[in-house]
Order: sequence, then structure tokens, then C-alpha cells
Amino acid sequence: MVAANESVEIKIIALTIETPDGQLPPARVQVPNIPLRLTSLIIPFQQLCDGLIELAKQREVQKGAKVSCQKGCGVCCSQLVPLSPPEAFYLADYVRSLPPERKEALEKRFRAIKETMKDRGLMEKLEKIEDPGEHKVLGGEYFQMGLPCPFLEDNSCSIYPRRPFSCREYNVISPSELCQDPINNEVKTVWIPRSMMVAMARLAAELYQVPLMTIPLALSLDWAEEHQVFSKRTWPGIWLFEKMMEVATGDKLENFIPGAPIPPRK
Ligand code: SF4
Repeated sequence: MVAANESVEIKIIALTIETPDGQLPPARVQVPNIPLRLTSLIIPFQQLCDGLIELAKQREVQKGAKVSCQKGCGVCCSQLVPLSPPEAFYLADYVRSLPPERKEALEKRFRAIKETMKDRGLMEKLEKIEDPGEHKVLGGEYFQMGLPCPFLEDNSCSIYPRRPFSCREYNVISPSELCQDPINNEVKTVWIPRSMMVAMARLAAELYQVPLMTIPLALSLDWAEEHQVFSKRTWPGIWLFEKMMEVATGDKLENFIPGAPIPPRK
């Protein structure tokens, strides 16, 4: 907490980022040197994520591909969407901030999905998952259950500006009909040189001192509730921003394989 008469150090960071698809538009970010939670980095890194995706899409379009994703097609929103831990806290904060009626409606959808997952034995399987390869298999089982994301309304994302990195980073360039059965069809997506979901998951693992993990979006509210102790941790703002930039643009990121999702224990 900063007292009213204390001045806050603000660092202006000029960002010039080279990617395999070209340079991102230069940006200047003002970072206050106050204690910040990891969730504070999500909005600026959503902007970086969007910039990377735009360049990657342009590359594919120049090669003759067409991006099939469009408003009103929510087929991929029944997938087991992985979140980095800070994104689970970010979405839980958002849901908590909503008017009671809206909040309860969303929580009810989350509860219904969890109950169905329990009934079909998927919760138990998620708890026992050891190999990241199993995540793919369970992802297929989950998709076949046909459970739309709690935020999907009229086949559109009701939290579009806040949607997770994974949703932003999933852009299909194969015919949209193939998305109806992504297990048996070869669904092609735009390759992106840097995943901000991965960067955030890596940074969370390092700073929270936990294994590298992703959280299924459908279980994120309960997970966030159970792990609030991590959510409250803070680091000096400038250090945190520079650390995330280092991870997000570092060499090791491309080789990441998402770790096993950690479901809530309840
Ligand atoms: S957050 Fe939005 S885009 Fe992502 S799965 Fe849910 S409805 Fe779809």
C-alpha cells in the first residue's frame, strides 16, 4: 500500500519486439514500482499476445490460408481450455466482481460442468494424470461430452476482451467443419512463435514455486478459491514486468509441453 503523500516510481519501458513474423509496433509501457500480483500482468500481455497473433495470421493469409474462426462459431469453446494459474485468479476475480445475479448464473454453469465431469469419471482421471500426453486424451473425452464453456452465450464469447491466452492463440486455418470433430480430423491452427499462456504458466511456476501446470478453465473458479494464498503474493512492479518480458521473449518457450492440469481437490 502506498501512502497518499508518497510518490510512486514509474518506469517507462520502450518495447521493440522482433518476432519471426516481423517487428511488433513499438510500444511504451508505464510500469509503477508498487507491489503487483501476477494477475496485473495479464492485460498488458494480452496486448502483446494479440500483436503476435495478428502478425502470425498475416503470415498465413499471405501464404493463401484463410482463418476460419468467426463470431458466432463457438465449436472450440467446448474444449478443455488450459489456463495458466494467474489467469484462473484473473477470471475468478472477474466473476466475483459481477452483480450477484450474473455471478450466480455463471457459478451455476461452472458447478453443472464439474458435476457432469464427476459423474462421467473425468475428475478422477484428471486427478490421476501424470503424463502430459494423457492431457490430450482427456481433452478428447471432455470435448465429446459437449459441455460449452460457462462464458459462451449465443455461440459467442461473453468475456471476449478478457478471454484467456489459449482462446486468443487458437486460430483455425482448416475448414471450419473439421472443428466439429477435432479428435478424428486434422484441425490446422496458425502457428505462433510465442505463447503467452506458456510464458505466464512458466513465470507462475517459478514465482509461486510450484510445478509447471495448467488449470482447465471449467474448474478454474474452484481452483482459484482453493489456492488464494498464491493469488495474494506480490513482487515489485518493475522487476515483475521485466521478468515476464524475459520469460515471454526467451529462447526456451517454444519447447514447452503443458504440464498436467491440477484439478481442485474438493
Ligand atoms: S473464454 Fe470465451 S473464447 Fe474461451 S472457451 Fe470460453 S467462451 Fe470460448
